[in-house]
Order: sequence, then C-alpha cells, then structure tokens
Amino acid sequence: MIIRFYGVRGSTAVPGAHTAKYGGNTSCVHIELENGHDLVLDAGTGIRCLGQKLAKKPTPVSILLSHGHWDHIQGYPFFAPIYEPGRDINVYIDVESQHQMLCSLFEQMDGSNFPVKAEDLPSNGVCKFKGVESELYEREGIKVIKRPINHPGGGIAYKINENEMTCAYVTDNELDPPYAMETNYDEWVKYLQGVDVMIHDAQYTEDDMPHKHGWGHSLISQVRQLATDAEVKLLVMFHHDPDRSDSELDEIQIENENYLKSHRAPARSVCAAEGLSITLTKPILGGETHIDIG
Ligand SMILES: [Zn+2]
Ligand SMILES: [Zn+2]
Repeated sequence: MIIRFYGVRGSTAVPGAHTAKYGGNTSCVHIELENGHDLVLDAGTGIRCLGQKLAKKPTPVSILLSHGHWDHIQGYPFFAPIYEPGRDINVYIDVESQHQMLCSLFEQMDGSNFPVKAEDLPSNGVCKFKGVESELYEREGIKVIKRPINHPGGGIAYKINENEMTCAYVTDNELDPPYAMETNYDEWVKYLQGVDVMIHDAQYTEDDMPHKHGWGHSLISQVRQLATDAEVKLLVMFHHDPDRSDSELDEIQIENENYLKSHRAPARSVCAAEGLSITLTKPILGGETHIDIG
C-alpha cells in the first residue's frame, strides 16, 4: 500500500513562497492499493495533479469523501479521469446521512459555477455506499470502516485495511468540541488503536484558541496525545492552517519528535507535505508492517 499526498492544506488553497515546501493545495490523498486499485481520499485542489497521473489508466477510481466543504471538493471539476469516456469513477458516500456531501460534489458542476455540467460528463460516476451497510465497505481484499467526525455539518473518517496494513484518514475532526460529539475521545482511541498510519487534522495551535474553538479542527497537542494513547505507528499531521508557514511547520515537526520521544510513544511523526509518500509492506512471514517514509 502506497499513500501519496497531493493536497495537505485546510480551508483554502495557499500557493506562495511561504508554503512552497509543504504545499498550498487543499485536501487530497491517493492510496495505491496492492490489488492495483486507486483510492482517493477527498477532492480538494490537490486532486488536479493526481488526475494527470491517473488519466488513461484502465482501472476504476474510487473516491471517499470526508465531507462536502469546499476545501474537500473544489478540485473535482479539474480531475482529468472524469472527462474520459466510460471511465468508472466510484464515489463512496452514505446517501442517507451525507446527501448534502454528494450534492456539493456534483452541484458545483451546474453550468453556472463551472462551465461543464456534471450530467454531461462522459465518465461513469457511480454512487456506492448506502444506508446501514455504510459502516463497513469490504471488497477485493480491502475493508473500509467508517466513523462520524466532530465537525460543523458532519462528515466521515475512514480506516482502510488491506492485508492487515491500516491507514486511518481523520480530517476535519475536533477532538474536544463545545458542541455534542459524534465520536468521543475514548471511541477515537479504540477506533485508531494500533493503526500503522493515522492521518489526522492538526490545524490549530494553542495561540488560535479560544477564538477558533468550535470551528471543527483539533489542536496539534491533542493529536499528539491521541497518537500516543492509540499507539499508532506513524502520525501524519494534516490539514495545515492556511496561515501556517513552512518554517512554522518545521518547528512543529521538531516539537512533535521531541514530544513523542519524551513520552516513549511508539509513534513516529511527520507533517504532511505535497509529494510525501508512505509505503507500507507486510513481511512475507507476517509480523509488523514496514513503514517507509519518502
Ligand atoms: Zn477542511
Ligand atoms: Zn470542513
């Protein structure tokens, strides 16, 4: 399983000299599965570059959306495979609870907000997840387990398991919100227990509070604590604040390493960056997953 980052920024795209190292595109992560399929987590502006890579492949593309906010859907109209005649684009979504999410993905292509209409696309856009079965999606050797996030408007976290290698994608999640929680801290610890890679929203520092309490994102310090308590192997800090510069993220990276070392946490930590890739492999004789960061 190879995890590649194409967009790591929260809220809005921020190109420029101060974000050149970690990248300015909004959320998009590509998982190349061992079964040859391509799984795409969110369709922020980063999906445009990924689309150039996936264009002209014969295999279907599966997209899992966390929720329908702009920074998770705005790249979709620029995703090259949707313009390929007959290409299968499977958007996995819980139709009952996430109808709004589906609408925002396709309704932005209405001829007014974007010149091409969704109904005129030559590819096959199919909606797969439905109602009660949505807790677990299991197909061709992969299992996806969902969990509701704490975020204004709601949304979904995904835990992807292939051949006992696991990657959890938990973005736009507020671990300690002032509103009613969909998933509490202990439930997160249980859901994420021992995963190989935890990609988690880490948008805010203590300086952003209390002004941004309730905006649907977590403190970096809370995410470190969660990684420690859940004994994850690799913590990936994700959904960086648009105002966070490269040099600030460098400092956060050092702080994280020191924190995890001093707390004897099993986790390693990395700040997500465009171009970062993480390769998971399982030894032939079984045992711990190898995690290579490149
Ligand atoms: Zn977001
Ligand atoms: Zn959001």
